[in-house]
Amino acid sequence: MTRVLVVEDEPQLVRALEISLRARRYEVEAAPDGATALRLAADDAPDVVLLDLGLPDIDGLEVIRRLRGWSRVPIVVVSARRTSEEKVRALDAGADDYLTKPYGMDELVARLRAAARRAERATPTGDVCRIVTESFTVDLLAKRVARYGNDVRLTPTEWHLLEALVRRRGRLVGPEELLREVWGESSGEQTNYLRVYMARLRRKLERDPAHPRHLITFPGMGYRFDL
Ligand code: CA
Repeated sequence: MTRVLVVEDEPQLVRALEISLRARRYEVEAAPDGATALRLAADDAPDVVLLDLGLPDIDGLEVIRRLRGWSRVPIVVVSARRTSEEKVRALDAGADDYLTKPYGMDELVARLRAAARRAERATPTGDVCRIVTESFTVDLLAKRVARYGNDVRLTPTEWHLLEALVRRRGRLVGPEELLREVWGESSGEQTNYLRVYMARLRRKLERDPAHPRHLITFPGMGYRFDL
């Protein structure tokens, strides 16, 4: 059974979530505030966290940052705030996915399932140095990429971007985090760099660059490497 930690301060919503998720064979624990959420996440190691950003004590973004200090548990954020800036900040802080209130229960369950599944597949960073997809292989130690067995030449920047995504595989990564890692602090708002270099990587690596299977863009939100 998948264990979900529901972090939500509206009792009625918590009850509705508990009923719906238990009916779908999820084990549910609920925390009404950020402090309780952090304690339960540490004590009970949930499989996935459903996190409301508007909490009475600690800001939801801060909960994400603190959780990410020691945990890789998938975090699906829900919020009534609708700006894409807000989404990007949550993703940059380390959230895996984002849902806007009000949401349908079926969509919520699908997102939880996907987040838990990706976390299961993604072995802890550092343990694996060779990532194999159906069309290309990335060797993080040797810094080499091969497509159908042939070496692919990448520029240092292309490699750096690919490596940043591969190391966070299965996780939606916000543009700020990628820009900072690949281009450094001064890159600011240059999200066009990302578009250009993602397109180059797709041309070099994807079987069908127009319909990428591994280097995925989520418009307005970020990028994700899927196996
Ligand atoms: Ca709230």
